[in-house]
Amino acid sequence: MDPASLAVGAAILVLGYLFGRVGRSRRASRTGSPSYVCGCRHHLSLHDPTTGACKASDYSVAQDRYRPCSCQQYIGERPLDLSLIEQQAQRARQAEGDS
Ligand SMILES: [Zn+2]
Ligand SMILES: [Zn+2]
Repeated sequence: MDPASLAVGAAILVLGYLFGRVGRSRRASRTGSPSYVCGCRHHLSLHDPTTGACKASDYSVAQDRYRPCSCQQYIGERPLDLSLIEQQAQRARQAEGDS
């Protein structure tokens, strides 16, 4: 085997490796991006920020009219409020100071 074909083979290997990496990172960023669509398939911007109620309406084929979406944007247990954690830490600090 002459050195030229070896170099071509190496170049193809490197190119394949690089393209594989690019494709993988592109796929990762696509799946890693946060979803802004609610479970009711409406965008989160259509939901009331305080009540979570969906303001969008869905077309009902059976009733032949638009009906307001009944979604309340319940996404399960919410992570602990940061202010609650801060209160807990403050209480713990006070308890330490008392003793
Ligand atoms: Zn929703
Ligand atoms: Zn909705």
